[in-house]
Amino acid sequence: MPQKLSIRIDGEYVYAAEGQTILEAARASGKFIPALCYMEGISPAGACRLCVVEVQGVSRLLPSCTTPVQEGMSVRTNSERIKEYRRIALELLFAERNHTCAVCVSNNHCELQALAQKLGVTSVRYPYSYPKLPVDSSHPRFVLDHNRCILCTRCVRVCSEVEGAHVWDVMSRGIQSRLVCELDKPWGEAESCTSCGKCVQACPTGALAEKGWAAEEMSKNYVHISRLAVRRGVQR
Ligand code: SF4
Ligand code: SF4
Repeated sequence: MPQKLSIRIDGEYVYAAEGQTILEAARASGKFIPALCYMEGISPAGACRLCVVEVQGVSRLLPSCTTPVQEGMSVRTNSERIKEYRRIALELLFAERNHTCAVCVSNNHCELQALAQKLGVTSVRYPYSYPKLPVDSSHPRFVLDHNRCILCTRCVRVCSEVEGAHVWDVMSRGIQSRLVCELDKPWGEAESCTSCGKCVQACPTGALAEKGWAAEEMSKNYVHISRLAVRRGVQR
């Protein structure tokens, strides 16, 4: 039985279980912390940096999805400094790839788009990179559009930790980073892919989608994958 810890989130005392992260404790107590790479049940990645919080006594912002709670910890989730940091992180995500929402299969069902609306990000102050990126439509049922990928690695972790196939990885670094299938094969040639579709459901944007589906149909639901992962105790 995990020990109960008392922490403060935005001045309010809440109970957390030993081993929980700040994000888990905050969400369990009904507090909103944005995150795009987090998915309940699979290992945390700390990739999107949107879930940063201030912890009293620590000068730098900490990713709440990978920082464990400690007894007596005092956390702020929504200061002006945090809001500005999150805004910058979101704007950079939009600037790095080609997110043309109006012609995206995930328009109105996209977590990136929804978060930008929620956080009031209506413009981008950085120059767009407009990278020339491919679309892999070699799989008979699914399509990967690198233009919409935010490198959250949810697909990588779900495929590896829940499906056990480990089809995906991220190659290169920084701005050159790119999702790769097996050893950089077209998805349709991947021998390890079981075509389960879990990666598609886990993807927060239009980067992974069902082939031939219209935007109205392409709403995703990763909750059942999370439940499955939690029941199996995948990450612990
Ligand atoms: S369809 Fe299933 S096995 Fe294939 S890449 Fe996606 S999660 Fe992995
Ligand atoms: S394809 Fe989707 S789930 Fe995978 S890293 Fe890109 S945005 Fe994330």
